[in-house]
Amino acid sequence: MENCIFCKLANGEIPTNTVYEDENYRVIMDANPANIGHSLVLPKKHGKDIFELDSETVAGAHALAKKVAEAAKKALDADGINILQNNGESAGQTVMHFHIHVIPRFKNDWPSMPMHQSGATDEETKAACAKIGEFMK
Ligand code: AMP
Ligand code: ZN
Repeated sequence: MENCIFCKLANGEIPTNTVYEDENYRVIMDANPANIGHSLVLPKKHGKDIFELDSETVAGAHALAKKVAEAAKKALDADGINILQNNGESAGQTVMHFHIHVIPRFKNDWPSMPMHQSGATDEETKAACAKIGEFMK
């Protein structure tokens, strides 16, 4: 994929701080870390987001995120780890090449990640549950 910065970083066309590399993935340090040790798991194959990428590549990226989370926790003596993966501008994605954030967390570093509360009613939740369930068949 031409002009994709994460394709260039993942495939070594642009040098960057690399935590780990294999045939299919590269784990790099985020250029604007939310905390010390904030890394990104990048597939070498281009796919804009979870919808464009095949399940096998997505699953491999998540397995690798677990391995990086364990390594970062030990290496930096982190108290916890946030794993984030944004899909689409409305979800906060800014770089349109699938990636998983692995963010070490330390006691009292900042208030825990806020989860917006939509105020959906039980009825709305039940309806959404049924609708999503239909598409799982
Ligand atoms: P997202 O909002 O999930 O798309 O996250 C994109 C992330 O990529 C942000 O945390 C950026 O700091 C990071 N980022 C953008 N450009 C680079 C780069 N050249 N090298 C490393 N990280 C980058
Ligand atoms: Zn790409």
